[in-house]
Amino acid sequence: MIIVMRPDVERAEVAYVRKRAESLGLASHVTSSGSRTTIGLTGELDGIEPGAFEGLAGVEEIRRTDEPFRLASNSFQASPTVVRVGGRPVGGQEVVVMAGPCSVESRAQILEAARSVKEAGATVLRGGAFKPRTSPYSFQGLYREGLELLAEARSETGLAIVTEVMAPEHVPLVSQYADLLQIGARNMQNHMLLRAAGEAEVPVLLKRGMMSTVRELLLSAEYILARGNSDVILCERGIRTFESYTRNTLDINAVPLLKKLTHLPVIVDPSHATGRADLVPAVSRALVAAGADGMLVEVHPSPETALSDGEQSLTPARFSELLRDLRGVARAVGRSIRGPGRASSADPGARGTGAMEPTGRAS
Ligand code: PEP
Ligand code: MN
Repeated sequence: MIIVMRPDVERAEVAYVRKRAESLGLASHVTSSGSRTTIGLTGELDGIEPGAFEGLAGVEEIRRTDEPFRLASNSFQASPTVVRVGGRPVGGQEVVVMAGPCSVESRAQILEAARSVKEAGATVLRGGAFKPRTSPYSFQGLYREGLELLAEARSETGLAIVTEVMAPEHVPLVSQYADLLQIGARNMQNHMLLRAAGEAEVPVLLKRGMMSTVRELLLSAEYILARGNSDVILCERGIRTFESYTRNTLDINAVPLLKKLTHLPVIVDPSHATGRADLVPAVSRALVAAGADGMLVEVHPSPETALSDGEQSLTPARFSELLRDLRGVARAVGRSIRGPGRASSADPGARGTGAMEPTGRAS
């Protein structure tokens, strides 16, 4: 149930509606789009009639939503959510580029990767410290040391950091280092992890499960939102199909579809979607044209020696060429991609400076 308040609503009126919700055993979530305040109610709504809120001061309209995801829905918040990652907006006009190796492998590797992706124009550095590998005998990541190395790369380059968290009990640790907590495809329906991420103070990048529907993705996002973390970015990374030339099949439909269903930013990972570096450039052009708010792409200083996902990783030179190309595509669809080498440790948005601007996010 969504309660739309009058444009001139007073704080006390909003507080009164929330109190009424609480007395009915419901949680309430407030968001503002322009001058409009909306209150989303979550919890057990069966048996609760709109009459419980009708006539309360400041209430303009009460809507029942058909979608099972309530807070992620566009009917709860019409304006796009802009999530700040290390102070940089995701979900605005700019298409945000997040790039780096699949895994953090060594100090030299991550620093070289960070310098080269920054030079090309990325603003967020990716790199897994905790790796969800299919085989227990494959490289599993450097764990805490990997996080330390990412932090060092951030302080040298000014890039924000996105890195995966695999277990609920690791959320506090990874949150100390990451500007964006990645929840991987294999964990999209790990509900204890989603809840823990919902309590984190850091934004979350939620990747679509390889066999999950768009509705399931949105319901997983809902777990995070319902626990109070309103900074969620969704990532389409390809789904499993019968096709075997590629690692996955990019569901490009998901981009415009999600844009219709939710106010949350949507990015695409062309590396895991294809599993092939030779296909990444064309698929990247498609994701920008389809309206994605950003991309997460694997780049490795020497893909042939990578400890994970080398076959789908771009070299720094190919990545730089790709971004040059993508700027034209972005322009053609009314977006932009940041120019080379602009992020620096002096960026006002760098983590720890507290230079946050107001966002359009639900709170
Ligand atoms: C990754 O980003 O390296 C990763 C493991 O991705 P996914 O969870 O989409 O497979
Ligand atoms: Mn990978």
